[in-house]
Amino acid sequence: MAAGTVQIKTVLIDLSGTLHVEDTALPGAVQALKRLRDSKIPIKFVTNTTKESRRCLYERLIRLGFELQQEEIWSSLWAAQDLLRSRNLRPMLLVDDAALEDFSGLTECGENEQNAVVIGLAPDKFNYLDLNKAFRLLLTGAPLIAIHYGRYYKRSDGLALGPGPFVKGLEYASDCSSEIVGKPSRAFFESALGGIDPAHAVMIGDDVRDDIGGAQALGMRGFLVQTGKYRPGDESRISPAPAAVCPNFADAVDLILKEHANPGGC
Ligand SMILES: [Mg+2]
Repeated sequence: MAAGTVQIKTVLIDLSGTLHVEDTALPGAVQALKRLRDSKIPIKFVTNTTKESRRCLYERLIRLGFELQQEEIWSSLWAAQDLLRSRNLRPMLLVDDAALEDFSGLTECGENEQNAVVIGLAPDKFNYLDLNKAFRLLLTGAPLIAIHYGRYYKRSDGLALGPGPFVKGLEYASDCSSEIVGKPSRAFFESALGGIDPAHAVMIGDDVRDDIGGAQALGMRGFLVQTGKYRPGDESRISPAPAAVCPNFADAVDLILKEHANPGGC
């Protein structure tokens, strides 16, 4: 290896908008993941997906043809339940019903025993009644735990509101600040890296702030893909800019493989 070059020791990969959009794999993504696996570079999947449990997510990806292990998925939902257990909190959960199995053992308490609000993407629960219950709980001093702060995400019918606007609304009403457990939080990326020096890691994702900005703040390189929620001009929304901008996941993988095969770049 040439002096001053950095060997890639791990690749973190976003899921929604990078590998797939809902039940459709993005073109070339299944094959590109296979090529990356053949290189033996360790991989982890880091996702802010909050609408389904880790098991549901894993089963969906397998159905779409991706090769992965359930344990390779680093989900913000999983990080949230970990945080709740470590702090012995009894949450009011504003999360989708499909995500509840990740919180087993944490949902049995009665409403008057709840002492934390957890909020993810839960379109069916973003109504006045439930949001007002959360607001009242926050007024008692309960912490507001945001699984993530995403402004919007990509659905097959177009862009759609994420949990961020609802988190912001609760913060505004109750004059509190949320604690974010998913991307772009530093702790989330650090736990996914598991001790690997961030300088030796690459993050591939379609969210310029949460994927790329978050990873680069920790010292990783971020490769932004122009699929999923990407909108023209996103690359100029963060500083420093993404280390690379690629049309899609397959191109990002090819860039990594080229660098891996020729680490000196010459
Ligand atoms: Mg994404």
